Amino acid sequence: MEKVTIFDTGYFYADGGAMFGAVPKTAWNRKYASDDFNGCILAMRSMWIETDGRRILIDTGAGSKHLKSLSYYRFFGMKDIREELRAQGIEPESITDVVLTHLHFDHCGGCTFRDDRGQLQLSFPNATHWVSERQWMNFRHPHPLERDSFFLEDMEPIEKAGKLKLVGQAQTLSPGVSLRLADGHTPGQIVPYVETDTETIVFAGDVIPLFASLSPEWISAYDLSPTVSFDEKIKLLDEAVLHHQRIVYCHDAYTLSSRAKRTASGLFLPERESIVHTAPPL
Ligand SMILES: [Zn+2]
Repeated sequence: MEKVTIFDTGYFYADGGAMFGAVPKTAWNRKYASDDFNGCILAMRSMWIETDGRRILIDTGAGSKHLKSLSYYRFFGMKDIREELRAQGIEPESITDVVLTHLHFDHCGGCTFRDDRGQLQLSFPNATHWVSERQWMNFRHPHPLERDSFFLEDMEPIEKAGKLKLVGQAQTLSPGVSLRLADGHTPGQIVPYVETDTETIVFAGDVIPLFASLSPEWISAYDLSPTVSFDEKIKLLDEAVLHHQRIVYCHDAYTLSSRAKRTASGLFLPERESIVHTAPPL
């Protein structure tokens, strides 16, 4: 039986135009709030799973190392992920696995931190860190358009410590926890699927970052290959509809998760009664 806990490690502002790409503001602003500067509040959501003697953490947020250099994102409500887990009764040293959907700073920055002497330390020193092979190649040799989203100090200490494991194809991590791969936003994102007693939870990562991005056409301008994002989203959603899976929206500051349905005309919509709301601490 899996115990699943979803929590936020902090929030930041992203430009709404960037988040919704070609969708005009008159359309997206009806579904996602923005401030006077077009800023949309995004959550950095993580999830941990207790299963079969393992403690699996998915994504680690931005951490604390880059907040100054990335100040234009106006981070707020930032939590130290290690402290946050301790408050939930989980010692960081007891995490056995860290699964990283991809290596953009807002998903893996919390993997390392600087101690009082300025030395980089592993946040989860006993954990195996799972990254897809293609995402790792991408991290080591990024396209100039994506380079600003990666920081070597988030992941290099993990590789040096021998705590990095690369995922080449879809695989089972432990009974009830499987890892799939998806492209589009960036190559080789990991999409974790977790079976609980009652339903399957899909941690969609940046394949479907927001409740509003449930529509396959609503694709972020940050995505490297929007046509691929579109196809991957439809593949994920077709299965989610068929098997009544719950989709977790990792960046949505207002909606945590929902199931999806498909209308007779082919539109993907949330199953209204399945929506779980949340709100940023303003
Ligand atoms: Zn992201």
